[in-house]
Amino acid sequence: MQQITILQALSQARGDIGDTDARLLLQTVLNVNHAHLIAHSDQELVPAEAQYLHQLIARRAQGEPVAYLMGKREFYGLSFKVTPAVLIPRPETELLVDLALERMPLDHSSKILDLGTGSGAIAISIANHRPLANITAVDASADAVAVAKINARQLNVNNIRIIEGDWFGGLAGKRFDLIVSNPPYIAGSDPHLAQGDLRFEPQTALTTGGDSLDCIRCIIASAAAHLVAGGTLLLEHGYDQAEACRQLLDKAGFCEVFSRPDLAGIMRASGGVWEFPRETARI
Ligand code: GLN
Repeated sequence: MQQITILQALSQARGDIGDTDARLLLQTVLNVNHAHLIAHSDQELVPAEAQYLHQLIARRAQGEPVAYLMGKREFYGLSFKVTPAVLIPRPETELLVDLALERMPLDHSSKILDLGTGSGAIAISIANHRPLANITAVDASADAVAVAKINARQLNVNNIRIIEGDWFGGLAGKRFDLIVSNPPYIAGSDPHLAQGDLRFEPQTALTTGGDSLDCIRCIIASAAAHLVAGGTLLLEHGYDQAEACRQLLDKAGFCEVFSRPDLAGIMRASGGVWEFPRETARI
């Protein structure tokens, strides 16, 4: 294979996969940052690097998500390892971390539960900003648990326990100050599951295969038994599920039920506070 420079590699790849992806994949191959590519644009790729780049470009052109090809994704200012065993953390999910941190005083050792943690992005971000908190993160997938544990270790987060389990299955009798979850919320019939990045992501992290509210309903129904009085439940949901979610929270007896938009203005998260079983006023 003929030797090519960084500049030549970028201009060749750009045509197949666009500027940004070309740059990110070349950074991955050379294990360097963007500044290095600019400062050393005449550096030649050794044949093994050129071959690796060629493979990654071909895989990207077939639709594989950049995050899986790079093996990492930024979330809440931290770099998380991602593999096809976990959902790729989305920028809109940072809202859930904001909402959780707003409710957790820095000087308080709150008990937090993250259901369906995947890469651990939400739980580890919270743990990182609240060193006194005690975080439990659960996922039904052993492979996801393994990735989340690697992330906790690599990011030096120690106030977290990551366990394999089915929602509240392994948590009988345990209560938390705050429960947070980004559960699967796409209907099994949604054509988006067969498009774009979603095709390559773990389907069990996106959908139950049935109704889009299956998991949200299940979590809301069991959350009260795992919250302390005054504890909060926070859920991410689909763009059109805020009202349904608030109704479910309200029916289950949650107070101060609310929804909040993400940065794109889409109602993306809802939650409520578990006080005590409400007296139903009968007139
Ligand atoms: N927000 C993701 C998407 O629509 C879905 C994540 C989820 O199901 N929890 O791509």
